[in-house]
Amino acid sequence: MISFEEAIQITNGFALPFRREHVDLLDALNRTLAEDIISDIAMPPFNKSAMDGYACRKSDLKNILHIIEEIGAGAIPQKTIGENQCARIMTGAKVPEGADIVIMKEDVEETGSERIRLITENLRTNICYEGEDVRFGDLVLRKGDLILPAQIAILASVGCTNPLVYAVPSVSIISTGNELVEPDQNPGIAKIRNSNSYQLAAQVQQLGITPVYLGIIRDEEQNLLDVLTSAIGKYDITIISGGVSVGDFDFVPKILKSLNVNIRVHGMNVRPGKHLLFGEKENHFIFGMPGNPVSSFVQFEVLVRPFINTLLGKTKAETFLYLPIEEEYIRKKGDLLIFVPVTLTRKGTVLPLEYHGSAHIHAYSLAQGIMEIPQGISTIKKGETVRVRPL
Ligand code: AMP
Ligand code: MG
Repeated sequence: MISFEEAIQITNGFALPFRREHVDLLDALNRTLAEDIISDIAMPPFNKSAMDGYACRKSDLKNILHIIEEIGAGAIPQKTIGENQCARIMTGAKVPEGADIVIMKEDVEETGSERIRLITENLRTNICYEGEDVRFGDLVLRKGDLILPAQIAILASVGCTNPLVYAVPSVSIISTGNELVEPDQNPGIAKIRNSNSYQLAAQVQQLGITPVYLGIIRDEEQNLLDVLTSAIGKYDITIISGGVSVGDFDFVPKILKSLNVNIRVHGMNVRPGKHLLFGEKENHFIFGMPGNPVSSFVQFEVLVRPFINTLLGKTKAETFLYLPIEEEYIRKKGDLLIFVPVTLTRKGTVLPLEYHGSAHIHAYSLAQGIMEIPQGISTIKKGETVRVRPL
């Protein structure tokens, strides 16, 4: 059986951003740029006043100044400032020729009609110079940058109203299992409520993707074949919960094979989530998640989320915390990599949560992170550093 790291290498090999599209600036939030953005202007585009006040010459600051003009934001100054002259100027307005300083309104007093005098010292220039933030032709955003509000402002400033971004893959979700009923039903004897579909849908939504939920499919080959045939052809990514392990009713791998899906990963030396399946067919990707809710949750976080992020063009490395463990951690066997739910204490240490295995989803409702205990390690002493993936 392959290791988790080998499985990740295999899935990463297929995680290439595949489609690009132009979106309206108002729809660009949380998308990833698929092009470099070059500024078509200098920013600021002209010497701009940073204050409401008076534009004048530094050499005249000790003198009484005569106001020769008023310049509002957006107006073109009509006059050049000469000796002992100034213009009343508003924040954001173009500084007139001749002026090399803007003195703040609060720092002057009127000495007569259209006459002012400076009453303080230690002045700032209060001019934002043309091109001091960005010059014409500067690279302002890069391919692979995530578009957040600050990037939206830059795109708007350089007139990029239709940025080229990576397309969002379509995602469908299916749960398999004769034991499942939907959450609005009472499971009665021998059945359980379907929580995985909703958990997976929420995890997909956190990526900014609205998944399509295709319902519960009974563990019957024909049913599964019909639903999987149409889902795989239609959606970029199909996430199937359950039916991928080695039970008599775990038909998913067999049906995928019959549909000519190339199964690239099926089973890895990790807990929870040993039976995870990853397959692909003509740029359609299929994840078979183990039915146990914790396995499904954890494998989505550690394997599916990074995969979809890469498809979305996100190039930032995953974030890990390296923190000391609060108490000694011992496991019986150190034969495989395991993922453990943890909280983070105020002291900055990692505290493993009480956890009864892969059906114990409640432990994850309290978790702030997923700690990794590598293969070959069975004891971690108090204070030793562990790697945690924050949730
Ligand atoms: P499976 O991977 O199909 O063998 O399922 C393993 C176990 O996970 C089952 O015995 C169920 O208890 C549980 N399970 C499977 N599917 C779901 C689901 N959609 N929601 C909640 N629990 C599930
Ligand atoms: Mg099942």
